[in-house]
Amino acid sequence: MPFGAVTEEAKLPIIAREATASLRTGDNEMENVEKGGAMILDGTATARVIRTEITEEVAALKSAGGITPHLAAVLIGADPASETYVSMKQKACGWVGMRSSVHRLPDTATQEEAEALVHSLNADPHITGILVQHPIPKHLHEPSVLDQVSREKDVDGISRMSLGGLINGEPAFPSCTPAGIIELLDRYNIPISGKKAVVVGRSIILGKPVAMMLLNRNATVTICHSKTENLAEVTLQADIVVAAVGRAELITGEMIKPGAAVLDAGYNRVVGKGHDVGDVEYDSASKVAGWITPVPGGVGPMTIAMLLRNTLLAAQNRY
Ligand code: NAP
Repeated sequence: MPFGAVTEEAKLPIIAREATASLRTGDNEMENVEKGGAMILDGTATARVIRTEITEEVAALKSAGGITPHLAAVLIGADPASETYVSMKQKACGWVGMRSSVHRLPDTATQEEAEALVHSLNADPHITGILVQHPIPKHLHEPSVLDQVSREKDVDGISRMSLGGLINGEPAFPSCTPAGIIELLDRYNIPISGKKAVVVGRSIILGKPVAMMLLNRNATVTICHSKTENLAEVTLQADIVVAAVGRAELITGEMIKPGAAVLDAGYNRVVGKGHDVGDVEYDSASKVAGWITPVPGGVGPMTIAMLLRNTLLAAQNRY
């Protein structure tokens, strides 16, 4: 099976196709989760379904005498947020029966030490997936460190080789947050082909790859950024809006076409709010949109689910 393509449903592992079909026939907790005008795209529930599928696949791999998927995280320096993210990912591996390990370097590590660590993980036959936790210390050249991860183990999908694969159709694991956005659209049976999609944001980890994934699925894609003039004019045309900006509540209901699908990847700390808010003003947008992701509980939980799926596929590809 070639890597972890999620851009075409036909390439999904069989269990995922079956689960997707069951969502579409309605026998699932996510069907008809509705509040206000828009149907909520429930990333928490969807991620739970995906983890259940992965747990079964991991057990099947083990009982067939195969290998246990093993995610190795590289953690350079002592960024508290990175510590939290890595420990969340390790916990998620445990939930689905995968192994995980953390490989640390001090924030004084040299480029050579960072790359040598990745090489040693590439060479370790017990490790099936490698994740270099972002950000790494500024004196290191992050793309070069990421590029050392072998394509077969790049389950985070953000090396230049993997991103290139997304563009030229070569086998590569899809980067996790963009893949999670596409997966949510698929699981809720939201059509992509032929639709107008607007992605607000053009970062290499989020805006650009999700735009390319939508294009690969035959959407007509527009990418907006900080220099875009009349943003509302552009977003109002969209059947699918992906917000990947990092600006709290930038996109309001007045900027959404009635019935559109709105996927909000943003996480923004706002003083006085009890929780993070997205790039979309949820209260106004949910009255206009056809589907919408909440923040938290929308795109966020899908990211780790996609990491687990890539890690499973990496192990299956080896077996
Ligand atoms: P980023 O690298 O800062 O990129 C932000 C993008 O938004 C840039 O392309 C920027 O345009 C554009 N932008 C900024 N202000 C704008 C405006 N007023 N109008 C239109 N476009 C504007 O951020 P990122 O890493 O992609 O992250 C974006 C958001 O997603 C953040 O809130 C982040 O926390 C969140 N995120 C979530 C997950 C997850 O797992 N859910 C994962 C990654 C990121 P220019 O290119 O012109 O500067």
